[in-house]
Amino acid sequence: MFENLTSKFEEIFSSLKKEPSLNESQVDEGLRKIRQALLEADVALPVAKELIKNIKPKAIGQEIIRSTTPGQMMVKVVFDEIVKILGDSKSELNLNAVPPACFMLVGLQGSGKTTTAAKLAKYLEKNNKKKSLMVSLDVYRPAAQQQLNILGEKNSIQTLPIVKDQLPIDIVKRALNAASLSGVDAIIFDTAGRTQIDLSMMNEIKEIKSVTNPVETILVADSLTGQVAVNIAQEFKKTVDLTGIILTRVDGDGRGGAALSMKFSTNVPIKFMGTGEKIENFDVFHPDRIANRILGMGDIVSLVEKASQDLDQENIKKTEENLQKGVFSMEDYLSQLKQMKKMGGMEGVLSMLPGVSKIKKQMDNANIDENIIKTNEAIILSMTKEERLNPKIISSSRKKRISSGSGTDPATINKLLKQFKMMTNMMKKMSKGDSKGGISPEIFNQLK
Ligand code: GDP
Ligand code: MG
Repeated sequence: MFENLTSKFEEIFSSLKKEPSLNESQVDEGLRKIRQALLEADVALPVAKELIKNIKPKAIGQEIIRSTTPGQMMVKVVFDEIVKILGDSKSELNLNAVPPACFMLVGLQGSGKTTTAAKLAKYLEKNNKKKSLMVSLDVYRPAAQQQLNILGEKNSIQTLPIVKDQLPIDIVKRALNAASLSGVDAIIFDTAGRTQIDLSMMNEIKEIKSVTNPVETILVADSLTGQVAVNIAQEFKKTVDLTGIILTRVDGDGRGGAALSMKFSTNVPIKFMGTGEKIENFDVFHPDRIANRILGMGDIVSLVEKASQDLDQENIKKTEENLQKGVFSMEDYLSQLKQMKKMGGMEGVLSMLPGVSKIKKQMDNANIDENIIKTNEAIILSMTKEERLNPKIISSSRKKRISSGSGTDPATINKLLKQFKMMTNMMKKMSKGDSKGGISPEIFNQLK
């Protein structure tokens, strides 16, 4: 997420931080580079201009030039201004409604509305203890309604049964009825998009809006489309008055132009972001945390929150206890891999740590990626319980069985067993209080 911009900023700041003091021309040069980095990240020109305009007086003010740590002061000034551009503080969902509260998701085809409907329903259930009914109004694309209902079934979220050939507005009426009968707290309407903005879509949305009187009309926009997403948001805002934006595919967005420009260009806050295809890949948009990430300062707060929300605390405790006892089995290793996967794999964890954009590149090269997590998990799952607890018994015939079960080969199994052996040795040393038991470069290389 926003890796390109982050590595640019890290570069700019690391050269500024080296200077014991800054003069005006050095600050100007820094600002020039910041502006260039923003434009390369596809940030809208007016937004880049506004940022520089606001940073400049503070940057060339006495505060920075006289400061004992001018580089860090500069980071702080830029940070504050980016937070402002992103919308200052997180924007809460409006839940003030006589139930059912209606949420309308609008946006172009393929922007992620249907996926987001399920993510939002799960979010409301987890964080607000609100039960939702999901309703697809996409009667134009074949199987669009089924797509939402299947998502509902998979994730235990109520959906409105499909009645063939019903018009969107009639589906809305049926939904309102069903909701009041079943006592759900919220209805999430997944409206039909088009490949581009057109009059029939806007008219349909306006009509649906007048009947549902939604607490939130949320645009779902694909961050990968950069400034196009911002233009689309402006168009929607003009016609249907948005209350919020959900930015999707932020996981694949190395540049961050849409995220940075959206609020300033539309005056509509980004409320959430989609960070992957899975239902749990959905986060509240916190301007300060995003600014932290963009500036390469990491997002420890989100990481810790994620850890406490997503991880199975029971399992962690058990693994920790085993570690202290110096027993670390394949079962523990498997549970660690699972936790890691839940947190979005290496990629997910690393993207939240400070100053890692450089390390991350090295890691990418070293191929520490989700595939390895998946492969190792598949291998361990193909082992018997006995084998997991005592890998020593894994003979070559067992290796053959495990490799065919996991779709790998005996060499990969050997690699995992070797890694595991090194890990257990390391753990044993650590549990004996040997301070040299940490990860040595040699072991680190082996872990690759
Ligand atoms: P709709 O046409 O607006 O309803 O879009 P869909 O919800 O059907 O999504 C289109 C595609 O984008 C699907 O393959 C989704 O899995 C994918 N998608 C949606 N949100 C995200 C996201 O945040 N990250 C990623 N990587 N993919 C997403
Ligand atoms: Mg859809």
